[in-house]
Amino acid sequence: MKSIYEQTGRIFDIQRYSIHDGPGIRTIVFLKGCYLRCKWCCNPESQEYGIQEMIRGGKKEIMGRDVTVAEVMDEIAADRIYYARSGGGLTLSGGECMAQPEFAEALLRAAHDYGFNTAIETTAFASREVVQRLLPHVDHFLMDIKHMNSDKHEEFTSQRNEKILENAKYIAENANHLVIRVPVVPTFNATPSEIADIARFADSLPNVTELHLLPYHRLGQDKYTGLGRTYLLDGIAPPTADTMNMLLETAQSVSTKLHVQIGG
Ligand code: SF4
Repeated sequence: MKSIYEQTGRIFDIQRYSIHDGPGIRTIVFLKGCYLRCKWCCNPESQEYGIQEMIRGGKKEIMGRDVTVAEVMDEIAADRIYYARSGGGLTLSGGECMAQPEFAEALLRAAHDYGFNTAIETTAFASREVVQRLLPHVDHFLMDIKHMNSDKHEEFTSQRNEKILENAKYIAENANHLVIRVPVVPTFNATPSEIADIARFADSLPNVTELHLLPYHRLGQDKYTGLGRTYLLDGIAPPTADTMNMLLETAQSVSTKLHVQIGG
């Protein structure tokens, strides 16, 4: 039988020394492939599972490579001293790591073998079977809830939200730790009533104590050009600090137990 270290998967980046995607100092592994097509996505090179060419700074770059868990763990283990000192570890991001469940599970199990804690950034648009498969190997879930209205969710992300909300409840009941994150995107969800709806839902989830409001930014816009794609939120400005503070107060006002903050 194949060991977890021989399992292969497809990634497009590894970033070291992150302090925003889980506790402590972390290494982020970005997996290729996502079921959603969020209009604001700052990693459009993550969406297709296929390997792509992207032009950046006038140069052609290949986005995507196939790797074994052993190869990825060699890179991750180089920073073991930082994880030990800071309480950090491995975070899987993407894309959607649940779109490569065999590889994601093998990476998470390998990280635990090494004694590193694990986190995943996910939208949990996946079957219950996949969620159950990954759950025992995840110490920290960082889960996006983007909108409570399924029609609007579909209009801006290409998928409806029912499966996501059901999985959020299941993860909240069964995970070690779950943080709910909301990308705050003008024209999509940056109004008091829309944020209040999400905050009420997050507040209703058992064991959830943190809600993070993440302001939309346009840092990924150039990548769309580099992939020959059109940036669909052209002309939409990021929310102002005043707007974010107002939405923070809104979320706090409807919650009974959440610590709400701006940023991750
Ligand atoms: S879920 Fe995340 S990776 Fe997937 S399209 Fe949306 S923002 Fe991009």
